[in-house]
Amino acid sequence: MISVEAARDKILGYVDILDSIESPILDCAGQVLAEDVYSDINVPPLDNSAMDGYAVMAADTSGASSDTPRVLRVTGTVAAGAIAAEAVTPGSAMRIMTGAPLPAGADSVVPFEDTDEQQRGDIKEIGILCQVATGKNVRRAGEDITRSSLVLRRGTVLRPSEIGILASLGRSRVKVVRRPKVAILATGDELVDIGEPLPSGKIYNSNAYSVAALVARYGGIPVLLGIALDNEESLVARLRRATDCDLLITTGGVSKGDYDMVKDVLAKEGEVVFWQVRMKPGKPLAFGRVNGIPLLGLPGNPVSSMITFELFARSAILKMMGKTNLDKPSVEAIMEGPVVNTDGRQVYARAVVEKRDGQYYARLTGPQGSGILTSMSLANGLVIVPEDRASIEEGESARVLMLDWDETV
Ligand code: AMP
Ligand code: MG
Repeated sequence: MISVEAARDKILGYVDILDSIESPILDCAGQVLAEDVYSDINVPPLDNSAMDGYAVMAADTSGASSDTPRVLRVTGTVAAGAIAAEAVTPGSAMRIMTGAPLPAGADSVVPFEDTDEQQRGDIKEIGILCQVATGKNVRRAGEDITRSSLVLRRGTVLRPSEIGILASLGRSRVKVVRRPKVAILATGDELVDIGEPLPSGKIYNSNAYSVAALVARYGGIPVLLGIALDNEESLVARLRRATDCDLLITTGGVSKGDYDMVKDVLAKEGEVVFWQVRMKPGKPLAFGRVNGIPLLGLPGNPVSSMITFELFARSAILKMMGKTNLDKPSVEAIMEGPVVNTDGRQVYARAVVEKRDGQYYARLTGPQGSGILTSMSLANGLVIVPEDRASIEEGESARVLMLDWDETV
């Protein structure tokens, strides 16, 4: 049996960053950029107004106040997206909308509220009620992004703001590290797929779906391979079909009764790297390779399969996607009750974490059986009791892996 840390290191040693592909930008959220992105244009392309108001020459507003308005001739209106038909000249102004390019000659914008527009019916002239400096309420061409500059570096994780930046450059596609295809195979004679009637003695295959949802959550593409029966032929037949994937995940078939099934198949069809980890839940975890593809054999218990996924499959997927931060976020929290460790394995207990007065507190969700999937649903964190600790008592501090922090990056 190896430690959680050693197991993770081993697994990460068997996966590598994937190749890159060009994709439509909207498909790329959460992916890692595989090219340096330069801008061909200035953003914004032209000087434009930051306010609805009047484009003027600042010099014409000199000395203006509500008592001594400067009255300017209004020669027209510029809407966003339009180019002014004429220039602003001394003594003239143009009505301008937010985002509209500044007319030639104008160097500043006086907002509506600093004019007497409200008092006028037909706007042939406008009274300016305050003095503005050159450049006031003007957004300069290129003030966000200048032409030819390096805007996004290779290796950047594309969040919604970066997707927006790519769009503002007019890019419809971009090169990113591709998403791993993760094939998921449930094992068990007792399993029935969702949508089917449930015969006596059977249970629904929930693992394939929780695991597929986790794969998608961390940016992979889940591929469901269905259910294998508890015999080697069935397992081998299905695994052999899974040639077009980057990671294989099985659930079940690794605990005492049918323990040897996944491990034996791994041994026969490929390579076993390890097959037990000192953790609870999740001890019966197998890892190896078939057809050159890394295979992670998760335990069948619904809670165990999710927790071992979070600890091992998640980092493998993130590494394949080119990410460098592979650790789940964690906090130090004060325990609001004890949590025990009976057999020297690293315990991951489902807990509710709350922040009060700047301090995190954690309490267990209740029954911790590894078949009780609702305990995962109630939890937002996993309290860790290290291998060498028999318990963490109420009031003591514990490290808690956060399940629910936004992790698309
Ligand atoms: P195993 O590791 O195959 O012995 O399974 C351990 C426990 O998890 C058993 O109670 C199984 O019935 C249950 N189990 C295994 N696979 C699934 C699955 N895909 N969905 C829900 N429960 C499962
Ligand atoms: Mg089984």
